[in-house]
Amino acid sequence: MERYTGVIDKYRERLPVAPQTRAVSLNEGATPLVELENLPRLLRRNVRIYAKFEGLNPTGSFKDRGMTMAVTQAVAAGARAIICASTGNTSAAAAAYAARAGIACFVLIPEGKIALGKLSQAMMHGSVVIQIRGNFDDGMRLVQEVAKTAPVNIVNSINPYRLQGQKTIAFEVIEALGDAPDYHALPVGNAGNITAHWIGYSEAVCESTDACAFCAGKCEFRKTKIATRRPIMLGYQASGAAPIVRGRPVESPETVATAIRIGNPVSWQQALAAQKESGGWFAECSDEEILRVQKLLAESEGIFCEPASATGLAGVLKDLELGRIGEGSSIVVTLTGHGLKDPDTAIAHSAKPLTVDAELPAIERVIREHLKR
Ligand SMILES: *Cc1c(COP(=O)(O)O)cnc(C)c1O
Repeated sequence: MERYTGVIDKYRERLPVAPQTRAVSLNEGATPLVELENLPRLLRRNVRIYAKFEGLNPTGSFKDRGMTMAVTQAVAAGARAIICASTGNTSAAAAAYAARAGIACFVLIPEGKIALGKLSQAMMHGSVVIQIRGNFDDGMRLVQEVAKTAPVNIVNSINPYRLQGQKTIAFEVIEALGDAPDYHALPVGNAGNITAHWIGYSEAVCESTDACAFCAGKCEFRKTKIATRRPIMLGYQASGAAPIVRGRPVESPETVATAIRIGNPVSWQQALAAQKESGGWFAECSDEEILRVQKLLAESEGIFCEPASATGLAGVLKDLELGRIGEGSSIVVTLTGHGLKDPDTAIAHSAKPLTVDAELPAIERVIREHLKR
């Protein structure tokens, strides 16, 4: 068997990369699809829920799949610097892949509003971190303006190569299950990822080389049909940052799920198209629901995802409760990032550690009392 070397080498014939182009890769992708065993039983639901745990990518989020493509393409085009606006994970991925490629990286982040793990990654990999007194949407606008004059390559998801890399999630799900699931749910911020999932699923059922809405005439890299159907797409937003659910931009988005704290998504129209074509829907979850489900997943299944990532599962559990998702369904939820990204939120919402004297009876008492409960 050949050694696994990342999504570009694995899916090269399905990606807009020339055969001779060397991939800038950290062996991202090939993340586990873990079936939840305890939650459906706890909730008394006859459904199969699978978690696509993207937290196990090299920098801890699905952003690595897009970044390998964007940085490979930037390097192939001779770029010496990349730039992005970020709620955290894009900057972590950009910083790591720029380091790997030996090019400069500039990241614009909202001051005080990114999780500490993500900030530490951007700093550690040696990118230039620029905190702005503004939110993600302000940063996105500035990046687009500065790229008109400065010699920097934008690696936000307006860069089409990002979505091309991210579409590989759909291929991996199909390979693991043998076909598409009934539903695919995920959190929605800038709406690039739901768009990318839909591109992947759409290409997986298509053998045509004609242009369509998703490939815009670039079908030369689409080869074989690997699925018989596409899933119903479910996009979930945080209540304080739910522009697509409400149908209008949110001026000052606010949520504990900082990765999706976005008021004016770049891929809004493409996400709506994916929802409509798939027969799916958008819905919202409150911060309380998001944190409750993050904890529930960690305690009942042993999977620790970041708050934004729990939004997809929180939405699914709510829609199961409401009967919008039927019994007997198979559901894949993309857990977009690792819980270790945001230790502050995790610690704030968990029981405090006990402090006792370093003596045997004290430890025995703790064990006895805990097991009595
Ligand atoms: C980027 C990100 C999202 C949102 O993805 P979009 O493509 O912006 O919709 C969700 N969760 C995590 C952990 C992220 O890093």
